[in-house]
Amino acid sequence: MTVPAEKELPKPSNFLRQVIERDLEQGTYAQRRWGGTPGDAAHHQAGAPDPAKIRTRFPPEPNGYLHVGHAKSICLNFGLARDYGGVCHMRFDDTNPEKEDVEYVNSILDAVQWLGFSWDANGSSHLYQASDYFDFMYRAAEYLIEAGLAYVDEQSAEEMRVNRGDFGKPGVDSPFRSRSIEENLQRFRDMRDGKLADGAAVLRARIDMASPNINMRDPALYRIRRAEHHNTGDKWCIYPMYTYAHPIEDALENITHSLCTLEFEDQRPFYDWLLDRLGEGGLTNQPHPRQYEFARLNLTYVITSKRKLKQLVDEKHVSGWDDPRMPTIVGMRRRGYTPESIQLFAERIGVTKSDSWIDYSTLDQALRDDLDPKAARAMAVLDPVKLVITNWGEVMGGEDVLDACSAPVHPHLPELGRREFNFGAELWIERTDYEEAPPKGYNRLYPGNKVRLKYGHVVTCTGATRDAKGNVTVVHAELVPDTKSGTPGSDKVKVKGVITWVAAADALKAEVRLYDRLFAVPQPDTGDKDFLEELNPDSLKVVTAYVEPSLATAKGDDKFQFERHGYFVADRVDHREGKPVFNRVAGMKDSWGK
Ligand code: ATP
Ligand code: MG
Repeated sequence: MTVPAEKELPKPSNFLRQVIERDLEQGTYAQRRWGGTPGDAAHHQAGAPDPAKIRTRFPPEPNGYLHVGHAKSICLNFGLARDYGGVCHMRFDDTNPEKEDVEYVNSILDAVQWLGFSWDANGSSHLYQASDYFDFMYRAAEYLIEAGLAYVDEQSAEEMRVNRGDFGKPGVDSPFRSRSIEENLQRFRDMRDGKLADGAAVLRARIDMASPNINMRDPALYRIRRAEHHNTGDKWCIYPMYTYAHPIEDALENITHSLCTLEFEDQRPFYDWLLDRLGEGGLTNQPHPRQYEFARLNLTYVITSKRKLKQLVDEKHVSGWDDPRMPTIVGMRRRGYTPESIQLFAERIGVTKSDSWIDYSTLDQALRDDLDPKAARAMAVLDPVKLVITNWGEVMGGEDVLDACSAPVHPHLPELGRREFNFGAELWIERTDYEEAPPKGYNRLYPGNKVRLKYGHVVTCTGATRDAKGNVTVVHAELVPDTKSGTPGSDKVKVKGVITWVAAADALKAEVRLYDRLFAVPQPDTGDKDFLEELNPDSLKVVTAYVEPSLATAKGDDKFQFERHGYFVADRVDHREGKPVFNRVAGMKDSWGK
């Protein structure tokens, strides 16, 4: 099987590759040991030298379906680990009890595997959940208190907000900031033991209330929240804050390069502060992981806000999370995007340090480049009108005679064999392939013009009949004898136009879903307008098409190039043998905005 030439070229470098290559060269992490499972410093020190040259992780919250932005992050994290002899951990960041649901866990695992990645490496599975680290996180919090680096603050939320100050104004110390270590430890244990009400206190790091970085003004580490957690049940009524939990998760898992999106840039000083302190205390492995930020994916005509995608589903603007117009991975899969095309897309867009919009056509082009060298070809007529060959019976010796024709399954892969179909007196052709008064340069059917029916015969158009409203009902033509494709002398008759067709006698009726972009504007949800008003009213058109008989054996998920029309997939949900349903993935070339 051929692959696009691009795949064979070395991967373009980017700032993350440079960081990793520098770390490998300098042996930044070369001395580290790995305890075989996540754990504290002692656990890893007792282990063998880490067999992974680098460790990255993909850490979704199990609170929704993954989308194309997550796909970028998955390809990046798993791709870098693969390329540099590392391991990428699959980690559920499930430290937030309210929003999470096991329902999403399986769909996320499915999506990552479908994209072509695995968390199995060096003989073990690297599938983890952050809630398994709650005990360690608690222990680390007590350590910080004992080291004088954290305190229990019982100001009201409003007082805390006001006293934090803002960009122009330094913060004001909480009256609780100078509590004794003993008192802090006692109050923190009271928090844990359920002696304080939800919201009555938080544990805060003691750093610097005057820091120019607001995130360093004594950030909260733990809050009280009486909520049932899907993994730990009601064991805890205090939960770690994301900013506290995430660096610890990375450190326990021996992550080397912790990649996140740009909005976390201001959190990096705290990430380093926390892991430096826990390292000094001998709690976590050293040298500690480092955080690097990259620009999140913004794709034109697409929104990726989980909340708004949910609104589209709940309000039935789409048929579900896997509606082929949705940018979810399940939606893209059903639409017909392949894992290879999504990986290729992720490679092409690369990673940068500044936000920008990626043109949707980049994704479609990756799909074409993946499928063109391998997808089976087929003819399909999407907007059918009858073509009657008026002299067929006379030339062929009978009105019902069928003439066997064939075409390669793939023009460059003869080993895939040939498709068989018939030519007959009645064919289906595209409505747009006939014009009574052709515009300049039009080479298809018009009275007096000769056209080749691809893989079949040449015909001369003689006109058409119309209904009362003036719509063409039947196009007429005459067969030009001795012009059958592949027979000697068949090209003696010169034609300018070649059209696709299927024979009425053996064509299959199929439902074809012509998907287009879900939003009509390139940057939806960025202006004053409600994003629902920006939906593309023509994002789905369903047509009854005629397709060639070779498609009778198509199975759900099979991809095809319908000649002239683009790339199509047998719908993985609704397609049945005898009741075919095809989705358009992408056209033959980019026609959007032209
Ligand atoms: P939430 O608002 O629920 O936190 P999220 O989009 O951040 O939503 P997560 O499950 O936290 O979702 O994301 C998992 C990983 O995917 C994170 O590392 C995040 O940085 C990355 N990610 C999410 N959206 C994008 C995007 N548009 N482009 C690139 N990476 C993304
Ligand atoms: Mg997030």
